[in-house]
Amino acid sequence: MLYTLTVETSAQTELIDITPRVQEVVQQSGLTDGLAYIFVPHTTAAVTINENADPSVKSDILMVLNKLISPQEPYRHLEGNSPAHIKSSLVGALETVFIDAGRLVLGTWQGIFFCEFDGPRRRQCKVKLVAG
Ligand code: ZN
Repeated sequence: MLYTLTVETSAQTELIDITPRVQEVVQQSGLTDGLAYIFVPHTTAAVTINENADPSVKSDILMVLNKLISPQEPYRHLEGNSPAHIKSSLVGALETVFIDAGRLVLGTWQGIFFCEFDGPRRRQCKVKLVAG
């Protein structure tokens, strides 16, 4: 079972909570127990799990990533978006979440975030569900 979510981003760097959309995919599938793999098929975007209660956490993550990966380095990649490629590799393209009784197993404060590092763009996020 492989599903594709379309994610419309609206800023150059942005974290978007996709937890409800992934949960909806799980519900529509009818799968009650297994794994959800959330994969981002892009080289300048990523996926991560972090706090979705206080939106300041999202902006703090972006603030520090933007500080750590300076746009001022002598990058050689001609497209000019090397900081976005580096952030994508650091954060990663894949998360795995358990499914129990038809629900994603996440901590109280956890959410799944699509991470845009070179937007705004129309993006995809793949969700693979595996029974077990
Ligand atoms: Zn590039």
